[in-house]
Amino acid sequence: MPDDQPDCLFCRIVRGEIPATRVYEDDAVLAFRDIAPRSPTHILVVPKKHVGSVADLTDADGPLLGRLFGAIARIARDEGIADAGYRVVSNVGRWGGQTVDHLHFHLMGGRAFAWPPG
Ligand code: AMP
Repeated sequence: MPDDQPDCLFCRIVRGEIPATRVYEDDAVLAFRDIAPRSPTHILVVPKKHVGSVADLTDADGPLLGRLFGAIARIARDEGIADAGYRVVSNVGRWGGQTVDHLHFHLMGGRAFAWPPG
């Protein structure tokens, strides 16, 4: 799988072709606000390289996952949601509710969440 997919929505956001409200960026990770937030804080944290979903991850992606989750923890602190707690979700495939085929973690906070999710 090439690192960069011409028609992938989140690859296009990474390349700056589609605007997004960026909240964090480094050489491997981009985080931006969800366009249709489902909680007071709703941020998408994505790898800059194209990965389809959790289902496509391998052992070789361990360092990338460390970077992604490190960014998530940092953003949660910066957004002021870390003390109260928050939820990190990655939907996979049709039944998982995935609508964009580029790995992303929803960082959601600012309210309490039910368990299990619907
Ligand atoms: P999922 O349904 O888990 O694949 O999550 C995809 C998320 O991307 C949804 O929460 C959408 O609201 C969000 N989304 C779709 N298009 C955009 C966009 N242009 N900018 C920011 N978020 C988006």
